[in-house]
Amino acid sequence: MKITKIEVVQNKKPIVLPEAWRPAWHEPDAKPVKTADFSFYKVYTDEGIVGIGPYSGPVDPFVKDLLIGQDPTYVERFWDVAMRGLGALLNRGSYAGLEVALWDIIGKAAGKPVYKLIGAYRDKVMAYAATYQIHSAEEHAKEAVEFRERGIRAIKLRLHRPKPEMDIEVVRAVRDAVGDDMIIMVDANQNHPSAGYRHWSMRTALKVARELEKLDVFFLEEPLPRLDLEALAELRSKVDIQIAGGEHATSIYDLRNALFAGAYDIIQPDLILGHIGIIGMKKLAVMAESMSRTLIPHVCDGGNMGLLLAATLQALCTVKNAPFVEYPLEPPSVVPEFTQKILENPILIDKDGYVHVPEEPGIGVKLDEDVLAEYSSQVVAVYS
Ligand SMILES: [Mg+2]
Repeated sequence: MKITKIEVVQNKKPIVLPEAWRPAWHEPDAKPVKTADFSFYKVYTDEGIVGIGPYSGPVDPFVKDLLIGQDPTYVERFWDVAMRGLGALLNRGSYAGLEVALWDIIGKAAGKPVYKLIGAYRDKVMAYAATYQIHSAEEHAKEAVEFRERGIRAIKLRLHRPKPEMDIEVVRAVRDAVGDDMIIMVDANQNHPSAGYRHWSMRTALKVARELEKLDVFFLEEPLPRLDLEALAELRSKVDIQIAGGEHATSIYDLRNALFAGAYDIIQPDLILGHIGIIGMKKLAVMAESMSRTLIPHVCDGGNMGLLLAATLQALCTVKNAPFVEYPLEPPSVVPEFTQKILENPILIDKDGYVHVPEEPGIGVKLDEDVLAEYSSQVVAVYS
């Protein structure tokens, strides 16, 4: 089997959301998000099999030559040459979406989902519902109870209010509302540029972490800038709450260095953003496992969420030390109806709080051709 052509497909008409939402990490000056877009690769082969993967950047000539005319099963070689982090300083896009498409081809050719080809450990992962906005304590408490009633077992709240005491009050209100019946995570997003926001000092991070411990919070995410490994390690050494981070890592080496520095209990690679891919996710899980740490991937990508989630689940179901998967959820706009609109069968949280790995061959999902037409999807680039 040989790769013959790569296409990039994008929507021309945006998906209009029912209500604009404001990302907490840019508060207090967050711009509302009103629409979602999607884009993906189609990688064609001479045997008629077509692989799909979320778009992750233009295909430069070097990568085109690595793929066109080549055997798609040589995916580890592709990862080694194009994705190992060697181009991280050359301002290249991530090629992880192409790696996902190669795995999709391999699975379709074998008639099996990717996780079974790599070596299955399980077929479902517990979801944590990631919320995105800063609301009142009452609103968050009400939403957490609603989530719990529909089977969701874990929720992530944002901490990005003017005063950290206000964040703690919100977490306390949610804890009071759900009791011991729900796992609570929090994300401080201290690695984001945020105009008008006073970023946390080490002392603030320490103070917040100690309060969160009393509220039995499962992890504190990004309490300090990600490149300040020394400060993260110092914080981690002084508190019992698990420290998480790594969504902005640009290669597996970033996360390896963070692990070696003692910065995190939980690493949070993003399969696309971090140039990680399915292969890199597995390698990072092995590294983390060797140090008795866990991996809970970052999953958030507008209208491409369905493809990203499918690929992430294929990787996660091959490892043991990944207790949760992030699942963006904040009605009415951050819901599968919009984030996974392009999938024929969106990946949903079941009544026990799990998401199941898609079992169709490849990454396991099919694109809904009617939806692609509805949003005027077009081929915007061809590489052959
Ligand atoms: Mg985060």
